[in-house]
Amino acid sequence: MVEILPPSDAAIAAAADLLRAGELVAFATETVYGLGADGGNDAAVARLYAAKGRPRFNPLIAHLPDSDAVWRHGEANPLATALAARFWPGPLTLVMAHRGDGGISPLARAGLETCALRVPASATARALLTAAGRPVVAPSANPSEGISPTRADHVAAGLGDRVALIIDDGPCPIGVESTVVDVTGPAPRLLRPGAITAAMIAETLGVPESSLHGDKGGGAVRAPGMLRRHYAPGKPLRLNAVAPRPGEAYLGWGALPAHDGPAISLSLTADIAEAAANLFAMLHRLDAGAGSAIAVAPIPESGLGAAINDRLRRAAQPRDEMSNDGG
Ligand code: AMP
Ligand code: MG
Repeated sequence: MVEILPPSDAAIAAAADLLRAGELVAFATETVYGLGADGGNDAAVARLYAAKGRPRFNPLIAHLPDSDAVWRHGEANPLATALAARFWPGPLTLVMAHRGDGGISPLARAGLETCALRVPASATARALLTAAGRPVVAPSANPSEGISPTRADHVAAGLGDRVALIIDDGPCPIGVESTVVDVTGPAPRLLRPGAITAAMIAETLGVPESSLHGDKGGGAVRAPGMLRRHYAPGKPLRLNAVAPRPGEAYLGWGALPAHDGPAISLSLTADIAEAAANLFAMLHRLDAGAGSAIAVAPIPESGLGAAINDRLRRAAQPRDEMSNDGG
């Protein structure tokens, strides 16, 4: 069995030593649990892709303990510094031009001239990043395409034998992955919705929210490796289900309808942040329980709802979809 330790100083030091030695360590962040590797070590990054079964064309996010460390790897510009000043540490990833001497492996960048960087808010994660002294690439700690982990036992169940150590810091408070914004061009682009909403980014940068979505408007712009099927349970998912059908498990919103089968509410009080924090743990639970499929109630699009609906749409993609990026 994989070792699971609470975030004591000794555990953080042991985890940092393992990372510097090229091993994989899973740790909690405020978003989801990450599977960490030394982002400057090709062999460690290769081990990480293999452990997740993640396609190598899907680039990784490198995590750093503070903004100063970030600017050593990514080219600062006015968009980046404005967003960093407002939202770091926090659940925001910036895609920037990679500085030639920056030390994030080309494999971690999927060969791109850009890199994705984040300063997490979690005190445990930052202590680990400080102790490691390396950019730590850390995609969600689950097999590629699967449901993201928001608790240490999700990581152990999905990847247990492929991880040297899991730092257990309890359930992740946000529960969905970081917002990803590309600041390499003249106009910022929202690549993945998250807890830092499009409205918050637009307000900070003084641009219209619609401009973040690129030419087409509506959804987020496509990013390399932004797979259509992702976050998926083993059971088929049916979205916008106002009521469950016989034989289905139900993931509800607000009060639950009567149902002769498993049913659970993302938030009985219709609190969107609570729903995000519950999303992946409840999908794990319904996937493991009775029912041939999971029906999901319509979820409002406001605030964190955009991130929840983005994850649910990808999770509902049929398994035989050709285009996929995994993660
Ligand atoms: P995750 O799967 O949570 O590790 O998220 C990584 C996501 O960040 C990928 O799916 C990409 O869409 C995005 N990403 C990482 N690096 C880059 C990059 N250099 N350019 C654009 N997007 C990136
Ligand atoms: Mg993932």
